[in-house]
Amino acid sequence: MKNIERVIISKALKRVDFGKEINIKGWVRTRRGNKNVSFIAINDGSTINNIQVVVDLTKFSEEELKPVTTGASVSVNGLLTQSMGQGQSVEIQATEIEIYGTADPEKYPLQKKGHTLEYLREIAHLRPRTNTFGAVFRIRHNMAMAVHSFFHERGFFYFHTPIITSSDCEGAGQMFQVTTMNLYDLKKDEFGSIDYSGDFFGSPAALTVSGQLEGELGAMALGAIYTFGPTFRAENSNTPRHLAEFWMIEPEVAFIEIAENMQLAQDFVQYCVNWALKNCIEDVEFLAKMYDNELIDRLKFVIENDFVRLTYTEGIEILLKAIENGVKFEFPVEWGVDLQSEHERYLVEQHFKKPVILTDYPKEIKSFYMKQNADGKTVRAMDVLFPKIGEIIGGSQREEDLEKLTHRAKEMNIPEKDIWWYLDTRRFGTAPHSGFGLGFERLMLFVTGMQNIRDVIPFPRTPKNATF
Ligand code: ATP
Ligand code: MN
Repeated sequence: MKNIERVIISKALKRVDFGKEINIKGWVRTRRGNKNVSFIAINDGSTINNIQVVVDLTKFSEEELKPVTTGASVSVNGLLTQSMGQGQSVEIQATEIEIYGTADPEKYPLQKKGHTLEYLREIAHLRPRTNTFGAVFRIRHNMAMAVHSFFHERGFFYFHTPIITSSDCEGAGQMFQVTTMNLYDLKKDEFGSIDYSGDFFGSPAALTVSGQLEGELGAMALGAIYTFGPTFRAENSNTPRHLAEFWMIEPEVAFIEIAENMQLAQDFVQYCVNWALKNCIEDVEFLAKMYDNELIDRLKFVIENDFVRLTYTEGIEILLKAIENGVKFEFPVEWGVDLQSEHERYLVEQHFKKPVILTDYPKEIKSFYMKQNADGKTVRAMDVLFPKIGEIIGGSQREEDLEKLTHRAKEMNIPEKDIWWYLDTRRFGTAPHSGFGLGFERLMLFVTGMQNIRDVIPFPRTPKNATF
C-alpha cells in the first residue's frame, strides 16, 4: 500500500481539494451496497460524522472486502471526491484498502444500532465506539478544557490537593480507607483498636472526599485557586446522580463573600455551557436528536438568564405553600430539614422554572467551616440547583473567625488535633474567603442531557461495580 499522509476524518470532511489522494484510518461502522459498488462508513473518533468510502467492485474483489465488517479497523487510500449523496459533502473513492484488525460479525457486540444504555454499560470497554459515547466523551474533554480556560482567564491558579488524606472531618463514614496492612493479620492494641503505627503512613489514611480544606490553604496564599481532580465517596446511594469516584472542581477565593461567590458560580456554569454550544454543537445536536429534544433550548436558557437567588427559609415557605395548595411530596417539609431532590426540583422546575441558588441554610445540616450568620441559626451556605439534576454545586463563605470556627468544630466533635493546620489560616492573616464544589459529572449530565451519571464518565465506579 502506498504511504500517504493520514488525514483525520473531522478534517477530511472539511476539505475541498477534490481529486487529491489521501489516507484515512478508522473503524468500519457499516457496509452496504450492491453488485457493482460498496459503501463503507468509517469513523475514527474525531467527529460524530462518518466518512463514506466508495468501493468500485470492478477494482476490488468480493474476497478482499469480506473482512470489512462492522468494527473492523482499516486504512484506506483514495481520491477525495465531492459527494452526491445526501447529508455529506465529501467522500473517498478507494484506491487501496488495508485491514488492520477484523471483528468477527458473530462475536462483535456492537453489531446493530439501538442498543440500550443499560446494555452498553455492560460493555463499557467498547461503548466509546458508539455514536452516543463518542459524542459524550468528546464533550467531556471539551468541558475539561472549558474549566481550565475559565479559571486561567480570570487569574486563578490550578492547585493540586492530595488524593490520599488523613483528614476525615468532612467525610466521616463515607471514605475509602487506604492501607498496606495485611488484612488477614491486623495488629490490635490492648483495647482492641487497630494499631496503625506499622501502616504505610503510620496513621489511618483514606481517599479524599473533597479538596476544599487544602484548597483554602492555597487561596490564603495565592489569592484565587481551583482544584480539578478525582474525588471518592463510599456512599451507598445507588442513584442516577451519584458515583463512588467522580471529578470535582473546587474554586476557592480570598477576599470574596457569598454574593461574589454566587456570581462566580453562575459565570462559571454559563461559560462551560456556552463552550459546549460553540465547540461541540454537532455532538450536542446528535444527543438532542437521540435523547432529549429540549436540550439545546435548555442550554441556551441557562446562558441567557440569571439564576434566581433566595434563602433556604424563603424556599421552605414556597414549599409549604405548595403543600397547602395540594402538591404532594414523599418527604416532609419543615424549617430545619435537609431538602430532598424532589423539593429542589419543585423549586427549579415547577416554581421558578430557572436555575436557583439557595443560601443561608440551617447550620445543623451544613459543615463546620461555613460562616455563621448573626441570627445564630443559619450559615452562609449556597447550593446551586439545576433542572433535571437538582444540586449541581455546593459552596459557602467560610468562617474566618478563629474563635467561632473552633467553637463550631468542637460542637460537631471534630478534634482540634486533626485540623490544627487548617485553623492556622485563621490564626495567621485570616481573611474573608469563599468557594464551592461543582461535580464535573453533574455538569456533564446537564450539558449532554443524559439521564444517568454512569453514562457521562468512561468507566463508572458504583456500589458493587468496579469492572474495567
Ligand atoms: P448530594 O446532596 O447530591 O449528595 P452533596 O451535598 O453530598 O451532594 P457536596 O458535598 O456539596 O455534595 O459536593 C459538591 C458537589 O459534588 C455537589 O454539588 C455535586 O455536584 C457533586 N457530588 C457530590 N457527591 C457526588 C457523587 N457521589 N457523585 C457525583 N457527584 C457528586
Ligand atoms: Mn452527598
